[in-house]
Amino acid sequence: MKLTKKTNILISSLLLVMTAVLTIISGLDFKKFADYETEFVLRENIITRVEKFSKYSPKLEKTVGDSDIYIIEGEEPGPSVLIIGGTHPNEPSSQLTATLLLENIIVAKGTVYIITEANKSAFTHSQPQEASSMYYHIATMNGQRTFKFGSRATNNTEQWPNPDIYVHRTSGQKLSNIDTRNLNRAYPGCEDGTYTEKVAYAITQCIIQNNIDVTIDLHEASPEYLTINAIVAHQRATSVAAKAAFKMDMEGVLISVEVSPTNLHGLSHRELGDFTDTLAFLCETSNASQGKIRGKFTEDLIITGEDKFYQKASELGVLYAAPVHLNERVARHVLSILSILNAYNDIYGSNERGKFIVNDIPTYENIINNGIGYYLLDSLL
Ligand SMILES: [Zn+2]
Repeated sequence: MKLTKKTNILISSLLLVMTAVLTIISGLDFKKFADYETEFVLRENIITRVEKFSKYSPKLEKTVGDSDIYIIEGEEPGPSVLIIGGTHPNEPSSQLTATLLLENIIVAKGTVYIITEANKSAFTHSQPQEASSMYYHIATMNGQRTFKFGSRATNNTEQWPNPDIYVHRTSGQKLSNIDTRNLNRAYPGCEDGTYTEKVAYAITQCIIQNNIDVTIDLHEASPEYLTINAIVAHQRATSVAAKAAFKMDMEGVLISVEVSPTNLHGLSHRELGDFTDTLAFLCETSNASQGKIRGKFTEDLIITGEDKFYQKASELGVLYAAPVHLNERVARHVLSILSILNAYNDIYGSNERGKFIVNDIPTYENIINNGIGYYLLDSLL
């Protein structure tokens, strides 16, 4: 059938209008996601103070990247630890572990610094073409909490375009261009650099200016990725990492220790160890929802880690660690943090600053048995 010119124009116009409507609808959805503020419940009289990244990296002021740093000081002064959650917003156990600690721990001696949204811009979008769920929900004792599943990289709205090659500023190392927007390739950062470098600079300066003894950067990785269920430690931190891994093994939770490669730059465990006096660690758990061989992306996949293709891969023995439920991934991170602090106490506790005494850290078994939601607070209460 031959269409008349008039019918052609009519069909083309209709398609154009439909495209415009769909673009507006999806655009509004993206805008709503970008603007959604994840809630973190701050306990009165427990959280000593909240600082902004811009205190340490002034050019982040009034930008989306001006994240919060929550500080819990113990009754007694002592050593200090920085827990970094939310470097990569497609790795949910990272942010959830930081949130769980923020809403539960009591510090008796020492100071705990907690970041829940290290790269906040990366929480304002999701990875293109991955069709990922934008939110996931955790049932709490009296309701539910909503968290965002974002991207590994800074949003283009903050940093664009990518160069052809990303040259890491302090080492000159050449990296893939996508890593120009990856916070964990931007350390130690730069006050006048790209948005991502300014964020990295805030964290580096926070460590330097507060003389933070221990830094633990929380991550997840695909089950087919080699560095998984692992603690990666800067070379000054390997004795603490080894002792922490031994403590975890004693509890039946196996974890490997890797020494941060000296020729791989921009990562927290390399640059924070080199450019500050902190003992730098990075912990990884196994996350099917960021994996490459997963099937359909659902909220259930984020939470349970269950996926028929990963199940098959696991049966074939080609994975480094089987994907597990989010409860277990958070439990593993929490135990890793506790074990690192205890190992620090064993090795450095007789120093002038003494030992950490941090109470009310939920145990590995309890987090798995009760679920994360049991430990997340309901803000309305
Ligand atoms: Zn990561």
